[in-house]
Amino acid sequence: MQAAITLRQRGHKVILAETEDRLGGTLNFTDKDVDKEDLRNVKNVIVREVMESGTCILLKSRVDATLIKEIQPDCIVAAIGAHPVVPPIPGIESAHHAFDVYTGFLPGKNILMIGGGLVGCETALHLQKTGYNVLVVEMLDRIAKDSYGMYREALLLEMEKCGVSYLVNATCKEICEDGAIIAQNGALRKLEADTVLYALGMRPNDSHQLKQAAGNIPIYVIGDCLTPGKVGDAMKAAYELALTL
Ligand SMILES: Cc1cc2nc3c(=O)[nH]c(=O)nc-3n(C[C@H](O)[C@H](O)[C@H](O)COP(=O)(O)OP(=O)(O)OC[C@H]3O[C@@H](n4cnc5c(N)ncnc54)[C@H](O)[C@@H]3O)c2cc1C
Repeated sequence: MQAAITLRQRGHKVILAETEDRLGGTLNFTDKDVDKEDLRNVKNVIVREVMESGTCILLKSRVDATLIKEIQPDCIVAAIGAHPVVPPIPGIESAHHAFDVYTGFLPGKNILMIGGGLVGCETALHLQKTGYNVLVVEMLDRIAKDSYGMYREALLLEMEKCGVSYLVNATCKEICEDGAIIAQNGALRKLEADTVLYALGMRPNDSHQLKQAAGNIPIYVIGDCLTPGKVGDAMKAAYELALTL
């Protein structure tokens, strides 16, 4: 969306194609998260800006070889996002990714969150605030290690205040229907839960097929489908790329 807005400001004709029936991408989770009002506002502003920018918006439209052939663009910007890493932990197929709780999945009351990075911690906080009991399991020695400074301190304080529990130096070895087996301090133990969620990182969506379909058309890969990061990283990359086209 940011690339489209800046490209329109620079006088280009832009077609924005999105597979879903609405714009917003991953950020649509902010419509549900109780702590993400600011980010929800950012998302809503940018959606409005792109709709008012004169960009031709195609919803429910997957960019593939057929669409590229039909449109014959002068260049392609691929911002197709990322998907959750699913490590080969036995039983992981019976668990859900943290993101699913924002897209309709209803977890049980007592939740084990495997992975205590920002996504795991913030989703745990959201769930705790909406009536669930969450225990976060992190294999490193600190939770929210991918955050820092005042934000991390505030997040940890808020988690403590709301009663989110967590374990560090604890590695999930197996996921079962009613919990997970954890290795901590050289011992294995079972933690019971109604639902096991995981947030173990994101991996770029494969842009290889798009690159092949593009043939000689220049294609630029940006945002989470280049390197999963944060909204600011994706928007900055989009803006900077648009200035060069
Ligand atoms: C649970 C979670 C919480 C997060 N919280 C924060 C946060 O608090 N703050 C923050 O800064 N960042 C956060 N992030 C990261 C942030 O959401 C991403 O960095 C950002 O959304 C990346 O934007 P993007 O446009 O690259 O990808 P996305 O937002 O994922 O958008 C990609 C879009 O491409 C579409 N698409 C895919 N393939 C095709 C195709 N072939 N044709 C057409 N369309 C296609 C998808 O449907 C999607 O709408 C979070 C991420 C997750 C998963």
